[in-house]
Amino acid sequence: MCRQHLLGEHVELHMIVGSALRGRSLAGFVAGGLIETGSLRERHEDLSAEMGRRGYSHRSPLPAVSLEPAGSVPRVAARAELARRCPACRLLQSGGKA
Ligand SMILES: [Zn+2]
Ligand SMILES: [Zn+2]
Repeated sequence: MCRQHLLGEHVELHMIVGSALRGRSLAGFVAGGLIETGSLRERHEDLSAEMGRRGYSHRSPLPAVSLEPAGSVPRVAARAELARRCPACRLLQSGGKA
């Protein structure tokens, strides 16, 4: 995943959790996608670990909040789909540097 998509998806996870913190239902985010709200925290751990490996600063622990309803988050899924089509992401996947 290229820098833009790594950071973009990371910000998006924080936005989703921020919505939940403000008491907004995540129903608008939930539909048939790739990432479950139940694995969103795990996904954030993966992304922040990757940011650390690349030397980007990460000063934003994910606040504790219940993520309801359980389900998938299509906007993140859409970004993952974007990443698959992104030339910079593909370059990285094939061993290049971005
Ligand atoms: Zn974070
Ligand atoms: Zn990309």
